[in-house]
Amino acid sequence: MGDNEKKYVEEAFSTNWIAPLGPNVDFFEKQLSEYVGVNAAVSLNSGTAALHLALSLMGVNQGDVVLCQSFTFAASAFPILYCGAEPVFVDSESDTWNIDPMLLEHAIEDQLQKGKKITAIVVVHLYGMPAKMNELLVISEKYGIPIIEDAAEALGSTYNNRACGSFGKAGILSFNGNKIITTSGGGALLSNDNSLISKTRHVSAQAKDPAPCYLHTQVGYNYRLSNISAGIGRGQMEVLPERIEKRRAIFEQYKQGLEGLDGISFLEEPNGFFSNRWLTTIVFDENKFKLGTIEDLRQYLETLNIETRPLWKPLHQQPVFINCQMYKNGISDRLFATGLCLPSGSNLSESIIESVITEIKKYFVT
Ligand SMILES: *Cc1c(COP(=O)(O)O)cnc(C)c1O
Repeated sequence: MGDNEKKYVEEAFSTNWIAPLGPNVDFFEKQLSEYVGVNAAVSLNSGTAALHLALSLMGVNQGDVVLCQSFTFAASAFPILYCGAEPVFVDSESDTWNIDPMLLEHAIEDQLQKGKKITAIVVVHLYGMPAKMNELLVISEKYGIPIIEDAAEALGSTYNNRACGSFGKAGILSFNGNKIITTSGGGALLSNDNSLISKTRHVSAQAKDPAPCYLHTQVGYNYRLSNISAGIGRGQMEVLPERIEKRRAIFEQYKQGLEGLDGISFLEEPNGFFSNRWLTTIVFDENKFKLGTIEDLRQYLETLNIETRPLWKPLHQQPVFINCQMYKNGISDRLFATGLCLPSGSNLSESIIESVITEIKKYFVT
């Protein structure tokens, strides 16, 4: 936490605004929309809820196909199932690790040929690295299929100086405990489309029609963010620039410390791409290890109390999605088999990062 989160939460108590609305909610939403550069943001109780509403309000229905990046966290695709639609997965390209525009176009052509109705495309800016938005927007336009940007990991990332979350018909953010800023749990839907924004406000608060009695003509959800959580978010927005700087410094320190080792590579920013470096990720050539695999290295670091994690297990490999179609080029499978997320928390000191670097170096064949 920064310095002011507690103050804004106490304000909520002292003014008795303990509800899923109130001044902190309004303020937080204004901060978000101004920061990302969109007409409006609606704060919600999770990123998953934001994605569910985006899909549902953009007309994703039973039996539709939604194309989705395979290399991501499962919450990018779960809401497709909530809508009764069919997730169809698309592999990544190697420059950003995000959805491959060429393969996406091939998937669209193929699905259309099979007579499928494709209602949306879920693009993810994984680990904070922006996806290739220019190419993706051209495809979205060409086929008239809207993009939803999953920017849950990418608050503060930009593509050609424009914020992730501002390109699609809708963008979503997450403020879960593990993200670059947190409200303990929360999310937001971002859009330039005022009609989508007002529909989101309406259905996220139980779809109460304006009438003296409780009148509902639509299905509602209880998805709003509380004024207490929004108070935390309000304070977190003040420290977001520092957090980004810190995460980027952690990335630079790992890179400088490990770059010389033969068989290690980092995810570089292509020209015009700016990543918040939510997590520092690294890909290894396993032939360079003392013991064989990435899992051996992970376990070795664990014995030293250094927690690393495999990269996201692609969704086409997940048992829950095993019957879904996948357009494959092998990239996400290879990343999963050879990559690791290194300790990247904003509270890690330079000397801790240095000790992680030292241990990884020891593991390499010299
Ligand atoms: C965290 C995350 C989500 C879900 O956000 P919650 O707020 O935890 O529901 C969705 N997509 C990605 C890529 C995420 O990392």
